[in-house]
Amino acid sequence: METSTEGVAENGADSAGAAVPAERTEAVAVEATGVVASEAAEGTEGTEAVAAAAAIPAAPAVPPTSLSPSRASDFMQCPLLYRFRVIDKLPEKPSEAATRGTLVHAVLERLFDAPATERTAPRAKSLIPGQWDRLRETKPEVVELFADDPEGERLARWLTEAEQLVERWFTLEDPTRLEPAERELFVEARLDSGLKLRGIIDRVDVAPTGEVRIVDYKTGKAPRPEYAEGALFQMKFYALVVWRLKQVVPRRLQLVYLGSGDVLTYDPVIADLERVERKLLALWDAIRQATETGDWRPRPTKLCGWCDHQAVCPEFGGTPPPYPLPVRAPEPDGV
Ligand code: SF4
Repeated sequence: METSTEGVAENGADSAGAAVPAERTEAVAVEATGVVASEAAEGTEGTEAVAAAAAIPAAPAVPPTSLSPSRASDFMQCPLLYRFRVIDKLPEKPSEAATRGTLVHAVLERLFDAPATERTAPRAKSLIPGQWDRLRETKPEVVELFADDPEGERLARWLTEAEQLVERWFTLEDPTRLEPAERELFVEARLDSGLKLRGIIDRVDVAPTGEVRIVDYKTGKAPRPEYAEGALFQMKFYALVVWRLKQVVPRRLQLVYLGSGDVLTYDPVIADLERVERKLLALWDAIRQATETGDWRPRPTKLCGWCDHQAVCPEFGGTPPPYPLPVRAPEPDGV
């Protein structure tokens, strides 16, 4: 397919052609899995974060049937964490960082309801109180976050931080020149192997030439350049889904880091997406085997500091709840 970066840039993004190196690295610890600690501290962002925070343990356990980027990252980080989230569906406390991420995502999404010329920073900031009200209505558990803040000082600080993140976005992209084809797009595709991939893409831009750009907002800081590959995993995952769905390889993948003011871009080729597909198939095999045998190993790392499940994790002296699915004996080696 004939492509040109200009085609995408013309569609509106001043930052489309400017791959800013991910260089702001303070307070970002990265594990070998490529999961960024600052991101883990935020939890999953956007709609998936809300779903995770709202997980209700009463639903009967069922084997997983699909894979999202967040859950794939969970398994790579720690198989037991994946089990707690996907099989046991243990509840997790909302965090200030994850909830702020959800709020900022909602504001950036809603801003595009306004005519292009009115998509200004003051307008975006003015959306924050309403979106915060809406979040409290749809996810009442987030109210707990500020239950011990009767004077509202911490809440005021938290809202100011959300404003700063929203404001920084305007230094990275110009929404008056953007007309997204999709916002908060739910995508799902089945691979030839039967594996179902799903996820939610923050924004999809389509140039007049038909070139597709996938954009994801992060309210954390950009990873160090040597760990960019881990950060791009989610974007290549989405690119694979779009490729499978539309038979079009996205021209550009773009991560917008509002925490540090960086934009990380990558232009994928088919070989990248085939590699991601092979990786996901291997991951899915490992998940299927763990599901059937009940053998979910903890993998302690620095990221345990952000894990809500230490009380039931053997690495921290805890005992996991009884495994809720039927198990078969593990196959002997060599079989
Ligand atoms: S505390 Fe660490 S090892 Fe235990 S489940 Fe959580 S991430 Fe895994």
